[in-house]
Amino acid sequence: MTTISGPQTLLVTSTVSTLEKCKSIYEMRQIHAHMIKTNLVNHTFTVGKLITLGSLSGLSGGLDYALSVFSQIRNPNASIFFALIKGFSDSSNPLQSIILYAHMLSCLKELNGIEFSLPSVLKACGKSRSFEEGRQVHAQILKTHFRFDPFVSNSVIRMYEEIGEIEFARRVFDKMFERDVISWNSMITGYLRAGEIELARGLFNKTPKRDVVTYNAMIDGYGKCGKCGLAEEVFRMMSDKDVVSWTSMMSAYVLDHRPRQALDLFREMLSLGVRPDAAALVSVLSAIGDLGFVEEGKWIHTYISANKITLSPGFIASALIDMYSKCGHIENAYHVFRCVSHRKSIGDWNSLISGLATHGLGQEALEIFLDMERMEIEPDEITFLGLLSACSHRGMVDEGLYCFKIMQEKYNIVPKIQHYGCMVDLYGRAGLLEDALGVIQTMPMEADVLAWKAILSASTKHGNVTIGENAAFRVMDLAPEDSSCYVLLSNIYAKARRWDDVAKVRLMMKQRGVRKIPGCSSILVNGKVHEFLVRKEMDVRNNSEVLSKIEEMASRLKLEGYEPDLTQVLLEIEEEGKGSSLCHHSEKMALAFGLVNIRNSAPIHIVKNLRICCDCHSFIKLVSRVYSRRIVVRDQNRFHHFEDGSCSCKGYW
Ligand code: ZN
Ligand code: ZN
Repeated sequence: MTTISGPQTLLVTSTVSTLEKCKSIYEMRQIHAHMIKTNLVNHTFTVGKLITLGSLSGLSGGLDYALSVFSQIRNPNASIFFALIKGFSDSSNPLQSIILYAHMLSCLKELNGIEFSLPSVLKACGKSRSFEEGRQVHAQILKTHFRFDPFVSNSVIRMYEEIGEIEFARRVFDKMFERDVISWNSMITGYLRAGEIELARGLFNKTPKRDVVTYNAMIDGYGKCGKCGLAEEVFRMMSDKDVVSWTSMMSAYVLDHRPRQALDLFREMLSLGVRPDAAALVSVLSAIGDLGFVEEGKWIHTYISANKITLSPGFIASALIDMYSKCGHIENAYHVFRCVSHRKSIGDWNSLISGLATHGLGQEALEIFLDMERMEIEPDEITFLGLLSACSHRGMVDEGLYCFKIMQEKYNIVPKIQHYGCMVDLYGRAGLLEDALGVIQTMPMEADVLAWKAILSASTKHGNVTIGENAAFRVMDLAPEDSSCYVLLSNIYAKARRWDDVAKVRLMMKQRGVRKIPGCSSILVNGKVHEFLVRKEMDVRNNSEVLSKIEEMASRLKLEGYEPDLTQVLLEIEEEGKGSSLCHHSEKMALAFGLVNIRNSAPIHIVKNLRICCDCHSFIKLVSRVYSRRIVVRDQNRFHHFEDGSCSCKGYW
């Protein structure tokens, strides 16, 4: 390396300042070429600047370029190593960072200042799960005074946690001379992520100085492992809640299927003057989507517009699209989608496609996909999940096969188990049970519960006892506590009038202690959600009103030729009894309540927690014609738009 003096100092200054302004690798290359011409490439400081900027500027391709320049110089100094080690530890190739660190140790004579690269190399070991290398770096640290440095020790703790060696992390934590709030927080988060809830709580109770991060970590961790009550307890303990605490608690409610509590919490947050951020809005929108009633969602949408919160980039646009389609307002979902005319993220496209899928708008979903192709937007695996389910919800077998083919051949996406599940579902719903089984036999992994459930429900629908029985037993092996497979199997037997077998399934359920999830339908009337459970109304006041309306409906429909479909009833009671209990399915009660209380021109929206049964489906179809009402039912799987005697699902559900 040469030293430069005199007029060339000016050249160095101007080259470095142009380098700092570089906006692309292309520009950087040009300056590099200029440096070769002027021999500046042998000047340590300038070439160091080039490598540092390449490593750390975040320019696309910068890191690899920096590495190639690095490989051409002799005697690189410590700061060049630091930049590259840091750059690669943040990249998708963290192993390179470890290689460079080892290289640095072997070629630098003076190891002064290597502590600056320790957090980076530890991070790289964690990210690449390199346990042996991580332990070596740790051993090296123990021989120096850095073992007293809480900053370095915290990095070691996080590394072991990333690798999944939580006990090693704890040992480091216990031996620390001085723990700061970050040490406590990392250890608590590590336990939570490892699912060690008790240990996390123990440490949380001992934490000398909890900050808002400690609390947030506990709320988030409890929420993610399904301990919503405990999350609540910690949340209420906090005196100074920030927006992240509120959001973590809302997400815990959403995960625990308590969307109403999430929404109430959001309102409470607003009333205390806490301004929601993007994450809070996404969380409350997902709660509203689960709840299924659009009014609150429209209000949030107005709030977003009034406060000039940008829809994109970010997740708000896709959260709005999801919410509107889950609430049955696919037109509004379309509208939001069009509003983000440019700068649409892949998430926005995917949300619309899967929204269209659940509404049975298969053709429309395909058209959106063709738009994507025209605009040269690269679809991802989620796009194809949406497309495949759109095809299966509409019985579009050929189109589904086409999507499955181009996904692999044109876009090089390796199908995951969920994609195969969609293919099973696609064939099954269309009644091609043998082809559906063929997918299960040829797919490269073991079929999961969802795939077998798809076969089971297709067999129920198409009355295939042999295939259905086999599938039901597979589901029972994989998920013995899932009541739906027992119900479906007994429905298959009932359809084939094999009452002895129906009784056997019932006995099996009893012996195994499997409980049927009670059907529950809700409906929004005048801003209030009313819930109906099978045979037992929550709202006693409207009891007699609803029952007499159901009777009236049943007798009007009888005139139109309606016969209750008794084959799908699991209950072993007299035929007549079966007829009357069918009348008390929760969706029929919600519908009766809606007919009485919702003005004529407005559509009736009902949300059901389980799959709608065949009888209710044909019942509601007839009601939509006889009473000239538009009725939208969201069941566990999809939307049914009933109008003038037919349903948008065309029987595929
Ligand atoms: Zn029903
Ligand atoms: Zn339908």
